[in-house]
Amino acid sequence: MKFTFYSCMVYFAILIAGCNGINSTSVINNPGLSPLSLIDPGRYDTTWWNRMPFRLIQTNLHETDATMDEDKYVQSMVDASANVVLLNVGGIQANYPTNLPYQFRNPYLKGDLVGDLVKKLHEKGIKVIGRFDFSKINETLAAKKPEWLYVGTDGKNVNYNGQVHTCINGGYQQQYSLDILKEAIATYPLDGIFFNMMGYTTTDYSGVYHGICQCKNCKKRFYDSTGYTLPIREDMSDPIFRQYIAFQKTTSEKLFTATGNFIKSLNPKLIIASYVEVGFVDMIVDETSLKNTSECEFNYAATENVKSVLGSYKDRSPFNLILYGQGDGFRHIGIAPNLAKVWVLENMLQGAPLGFVFEGDMIDYEDRVFISTLNDLYGFQKSNGKLFTNLQAVSKIALIRGDRDEFEGMIKLLTEEHIMFDVIDPSVVGTERTPRKLEEYDALILGDVRSMDNHLIAAINNYVKNGGKILATGFTSLDDSLGNPSNSIKLQSLGVRPPFEVFHKSKSTYLKVTENDKTALGEEAFKDFSLMIMYSDFLKCKTRDSARTFLKLVPFTRFGPPEKAYYTDENITDFPGVISNVYGKGKSVYIPWLIGSQYLHKGNYSHRTLFVSCLHNLLKVERSIQTDASPLIEITHQANRNGAFEWIGMINHSGQIGNSYRDPIVIHNTSIRFKPLKQIKEIKLMRSGEELKFKQSNGWVEFIVPQVDDFEMVLCLYK
Ligand SMILES: [Zn+2]
Repeated sequence: MKFTFYSCMVYFAILIAGCNGINSTSVINNPGLSPLSLIDPGRYDTTWWNRMPFRLIQTNLHETDATMDEDKYVQSMVDASANVVLLNVGGIQANYPTNLPYQFRNPYLKGDLVGDLVKKLHEKGIKVIGRFDFSKINETLAAKKPEWLYVGTDGKNVNYNGQVHTCINGGYQQQYSLDILKEAIATYPLDGIFFNMMGYTTTDYSGVYHGICQCKNCKKRFYDSTGYTLPIREDMSDPIFRQYIAFQKTTSEKLFTATGNFIKSLNPKLIIASYVEVGFVDMIVDETSLKNTSECEFNYAATENVKSVLGSYKDRSPFNLILYGQGDGFRHIGIAPNLAKVWVLENMLQGAPLGFVFEGDMIDYEDRVFISTLNDLYGFQKSNGKLFTNLQAVSKIALIRGDRDEFEGMIKLLTEEHIMFDVIDPSVVGTERTPRKLEEYDALILGDVRSMDNHLIAAINNYVKNGGKILATGFTSLDDSLGNPSNSIKLQSLGVRPPFEVFHKSKSTYLKVTENDKTALGEEAFKDFSLMIMYSDFLKCKTRDSARTFLKLVPFTRFGPPEKAYYTDENITDFPGVISNVYGKGKSVYIPWLIGSQYLHKGNYSHRTLFVSCLHNLLKVERSIQTDASPLIEITHQANRNGAFEWIGMINHSGQIGNSYRDPIVIHNTSIRFKPLKQIKEIKLMRSGEELKFKQSNGWVEFIVPQVDDFEMVLCLYK
């Protein structure tokens, strides 16, 4: 990083201002810049955790850590600027002297690890979330309570390293878990509760599949609620299995709600963190971790997780944990430091809290390559805490979460193109739970959102009828909420009529781009190609009179031997690759195949060109940020809800080649132009510490960011 003396002083002043709160001396040293201490970000609500910049570290303690040096442990958290710690309290093993006969006490425990750590962490102003895992029970206790246990389809229990899987419908998860929680909550002033792996688990840590639980409790409860015998096989074409999926959802939600009610009745201030978004869960936990296959990691894995919560729930916080240990059984070795870094940066610059997981404690972790960087990034968020408080993403587009590959492909397309977007879970679209109303968005993207209930269909159709724009892909709206397939596309706004026929993914299938298509989609962008790859399932649709069609399916042409590998006009069908429609006051574009999934896997330029053209030329959706930034820079845009500032985040992904994550290349002179929410007085680069010159006219501001090393944060302060 290149510093001038002046920028060094500014940076130093900012650090001081951030660390000590109000510090007027930093103003005198830097008369040109407003002190950050004068910023009032306001508060989103009265909680310490919602839209607040907390920095969490989880230590997945081993039983042998009971003899740790507690003071060193606490100091490692202070050094990392953590202000929330997640540690193991009870369930599989109690790290405190439990009095409950069916909670196994950690055999290495000498005194009271939980009691000591809670006290010492609180003394340093660090909150503590207790981790409880009720998915397994020690084999010595399991032998006394067979009715609590999971039973595989082979009729056997699952014993993994002496810990036996329990069943969600057994007495341990249904009742005894509450006794354990009650004891811990009554004994220790915890700040929150975290549950791990509660629910229907069918595999063990080695990934061995043991099947749908066949215990007596499951059999009886499923029969009582549906009248059917419990299925043996997981088969989505079996209607009884689809009922079982619904049963899993209902019973898990019931248990979660009951447990949440119970915890809140004991202490309403305790926050609850878990992997599901039901009941009294305050923080929705997700993980970003290495796949440990030959496939490349998804670059935007943390962005995906935090955006899914921030765009969907106004009363919940993302709690995205970046796992330092490598996936699939290599917990003691860290992932590539530059990969860990971009994932931490995604959490941070998408406006979410930070979360990082160590196996064991942080003091003894043997792979220490990333620790200084972690401390640096956490320290940055701490120093600039106000700038991460009470934020709202600035975006005109909402991506409705659909099938995973299509969803991730859409995130990749939008991010590479620097198009700002929110993510909304389909279950909350059009409800009071979302931070923003649908009509506040210029456009919605539905990437293969297959299961849609009537409420969701009505919400989307109404949105378009009233002037909204949608881009839908794949098999959107084909299935009902239980996943039952139908033969009609239920979103009338898409301009297609039933029935349709599915063309199954097949090699040597293309889309023909005609001269007329180029006129509508963009002469310049399509000038160099008239054929596109189409390698996914495809819906051969008939269209309504109001619709226009583009591109033509050229299915399964000959590809060998080369002498025969050509197509003629006869091979070109009339089935469209893009359908645009006018519906009420709004517009839709429907791509009846999986453009996002294909872009995720191969990144083909023609798919990107088509996607951008559909948004800009057919739907007339404008970009909120105009930039010549490299596609290797991930841009984010956040505004303070109290009207104190807005900023643009820039994450440099350029260090990646295949599966190697090297230091990013410094990217120079990126121009950015956008319409700020208010007139801007000054712009500061928070990473490099420089003040930036800018032009402002007709509501637009423009500037050049001289260089982006690992990341940059362009802070805009208002007049
Ligand atoms: Zn069971």
